[in-house]
Amino acid sequence: MLFSVHMDTVEPGGQVEPTLRDGVFYSAGETVLGADDKAGIAEVIEALEVVREEGISHGPIEVVITIAEEIGLVGAKHLDYDMLNAKRGYALDTEGVDWMVLQAPGANHIQVEIEGIAAHAGMTPELGLSAIQTAALAIGQMRLGRIDQETTANIGRIEGGVARNIVPQNVAIVGEARSHDPLKLKEQTEHMLQCFEKAADQMTCTIDGEQLRPKVSVDVHADFPSMSVSENSPVVALAKSAAANLGQNLKIRLGGGGSDANIFNGHGVEMIILATGMTKVHTHDEYVSVVDMVRVTELLVEIIRQS
Ligand SMILES: [Zn+2]
Repeated sequence: MLFSVHMDTVEPGGQVEPTLRDGVFYSAGETVLGADDKAGIAEVIEALEVVREEGISHGPIEVVITIAEEIGLVGAKHLDYDMLNAKRGYALDTEGVDWMVLQAPGANHIQVEIEGIAAHAGMTPELGLSAIQTAALAIGQMRLGRIDQETTANIGRIEGGVARNIVPQNVAIVGEARSHDPLKLKEQTEHMLQCFEKAADQMTCTIDGEQLRPKVSVDVHADFPSMSVSENSPVVALAKSAAANLGQNLKIRLGGGGSDANIFNGHGVEMIILATGMTKVHTHDEYVSVVDMVRVTELLVEIIRQS
């Protein structure tokens, strides 16, 4: 049995001043509360304390507290998995209460550089090949946004050109594709890259008797694999059974982003994500109530008891 949580928070963090008002933790200052994911850490530690205090018999339990989750699951990616024996587990790292996440999308980061030819825009535009126009053509014919229920795509940043009167030589574009289905992720990624190639073909022209085509260089890297744990898996059955015993009703929600659980699943640890009670994460209004944290802790204790 493995419990996974992460100790880093998003910015602005640092000097977080937690306050407790009417049984709810808030941040007092201009920072996030950091309940994402400190609520999860507190719940796991408290669950282990309770197990010890009450002398509850249990099998081997492993706990991983990762770093650098928010900036790209870096801690989980660099973990030495030989140190772990557990083959199943729970990540405490999603909003609300009574939720479990069994599926989350995988993502590809896409970086494209287009190199055209610079020229004076007023005197000799026919000697230039516009990288901005090439990018516009490519993005204009690209399927973006919500592709289907389990696939999304975005061009998130574009940067290029030098001055108003220069045909732009270089443009850099950063985007992403996400899908719960690895095949759809591959197809969407290829579609986006093909749009750039097609645009480069469309922009190809003859300059000074020489046929010239904008250069397109692409860099795609898999940011994290998708995760998909079956509803019939032992790890889900155990969570449901533990919840039922406590009169809690665990519901299933689709995950929208990558979390450490994606990486653990990729390393053969069957892991689902449980809600920690944290709410409005990644904002100054983030909060978590003591009652909800107790509820989650009771669930963890019951999972350990039944495992
Ligand atoms: Zn988190």
